[in-house]
Amino acid sequence: MHKVEPKVFLVGETRVVEEGLQAYLIHLGVPDWQTDSPSDAEKLIEVMGRLCYRSFEPGLNPNVTKVREGSASYLGNILKTAHGSVIEHPMMNFIFADVSRVFTHELVRHRAGVAISQESLRFVRLENLGQWLPTVIREDQEATEIFVRTFEQLEKLQVELAKHFKLDEPGVPFHFKKVVTSAMRRIAPDGLATTIGWSANPRALRWVLEMRTDPSAEEEIRLVFGKVGEIVVARYPNLFGDFTVEVVDGLPCSRPASRKV
Ligand SMILES: Cc1cc2nc3c(=O)[nH]c(=O)nc-3n(C[C@H](O)[C@H](O)[C@H](O)COP(=O)(O)OP(=O)(O)OC[C@H]3O[C@@H](n4cnc5c(N)ncnc54)[C@H](O)[C@@H]3O)c2cc1C
Repeated sequence: MHKVEPKVFLVGETRVVEEGLQAYLIHLGVPDWQTDSPSDAEKLIEVMGRLCYRSFEPGLNPNVTKVREGSASYLGNILKTAHGSVIEHPMMNFIFADVSRVFTHELVRHRAGVAISQESLRFVRLENLGQWLPTVIREDQEATEIFVRTFEQLEKLQVELAKHFKLDEPGVPFHFKKVVTSAMRRIAPDGLATTIGWSANPRALRWVLEMRTDPSAEEEIRLVFGKVGEIVVARYPNLFGDFTVEVVDGLPCSRPASRKV
């Protein structure tokens, strides 16, 4: 058994295909249109939004005599007017590592605008369990001892069962290992450290960030989304800059000026 700390990795994000965008702008008759987006995600959203009214420059659509200039002003207005479907275009791809199955089970309740790949405990054998302790346990010596002892015991049972079924002997068919590994996980703790890949569009991300950093949410998911909040506010300021952060019980609580866009 080993101690872990939940970790957040931003491993991917949507990219603009500049030559394709330029070809579209030429097609539209605004080859010189430019913006000052801090990221491709924000640029893509601005393009997708502006194409709705042809609001790349005044007069391109005779009904439009004035346009908002710049990414901050354009995206700020989208958020303020809750035109949220426009911000669904890009995706941000995260890996959450050393998180528990308690965490992943709560995370997967968010269905809209996300993609998920979860470490399979049907295939991946449990042999050295990772453990993160919630504050209420960590600050109580006796409770900590009970947690550690239970994890160690459950880990021992995994090893014992693997030996019983001779999983590491040569020639054991993979299918059999899978069946046994899947059965063995039923006596593993919910709190064991695992990994989940989670991709979300910014509309979904804004919602989950608000819900899961709220003080009423569970400590581990608050901890993880506190880290997510730090990353996305710094990297996509025009998409997440309206969030204000207050520390409650030692963890960040992120609240947006524009709720549920
Ligand atoms: C503090 C806290 C405590 C919780 N406790 C419990 C609990 O005790 N038991 C439990 O079962 N769950 C619990 N949940 C989970 C909660 O009920 C939701 O399932 C979870 O937060 C997902 O949020 P969402 O429903 O907004 O879905 P998301 O998938 O995040 O969707 C975002 C939004 O899209 C819209 N949407 C998504 N799907 C649909 C749809 N099918 N039809 C119409 N509109 C849709 C809704 O407006 C929704 O709010 C808890 C969540 C929190 C934050």
